[in-house]
Amino acid sequence: MLGEGILRGLAETARNFAGSFVSKERMTTVEYPEERIPTMENARVFPFLVYDGADWEAGLRCVACQICEKECPPKCIYIEKSKDKKPDYVGKPQIYPARFDIDISVCMSCQICVEVCPFEAIKMDTQFELSTDDRFGGLLYDKKELARSNEYYHEIHPTEAAEVDARLAGEKLKSEAKAKAAADAAAAKAAAAAPVAKQAEAAPAVNPAETAPKAKPAGGGE
Ligand code: SF4
Ligand code: SF4
Repeated sequence: MLGEGILRGLAETARNFAGSFVSKERMTTVEYPEERIPTMENARVFPFLVYDGADWEAGLRCVACQICEKECPPKCIYIEKSKDKKPDYVGKPQIYPARFDIDISVCMSCQICVEVCPFEAIKMDTQFELSTDDRFGGLLYDKKELARSNEYYHEIHPTEAAEVDARLAGEKLKSEAKAKAAADAAAAKAAAAAPVAKQAEAAPAVNPAETAPKAKPAGGGE
């Protein structure tokens, strides 16, 4: 019938219009800020720096390699590498970011910094209530403002954080096994060299003059 499609479309629109006032699943808006829709696990807003342990400064995973700074498309990451090394949260001396700032007024939430970081040190936050009337200083976050614990990371992205922990634990096991294999090989080499050294020590010192063939007297008859 001519116009049947139009009538069906109008009926659907009317159903949705009426439903949006009475049907819970069709009410797409909530009365924010009193009401809030739970944040989805994959939501991403601006980056933060992950730290392990209780001390945010010692525990930062960032080693100031500056890869994220180079790859950030709008160039809103500013890093200064330390000139010295400080113990990290497990006591290993490590280069650290003397300065690590992100201008979140420029950041476009692309997550490239997260993808290029080889140390799982930078992740995306879900916090979006960041408005301020200080356009410049208020939106330039330093490393203290950017630091968030690994527990916080687990709270906001549990699946991803668990995968990262498993990956880091696997890498740690691998590097420990490699270090142990290298230490074992060095010990075996030293053990193999020890008897030779002992033999050389035990052998009497030989005077080369004594062992050299005696020169025949000149013109000596036989
Ligand atoms: S999310 Fe994108 S724009 Fe923002 S700091 Fe990371 S790389 Fe730069
Ligand atoms: S956050 Fe990652 S990529 Fe960026 S400087 Fe630190 S370790 Fe390097």
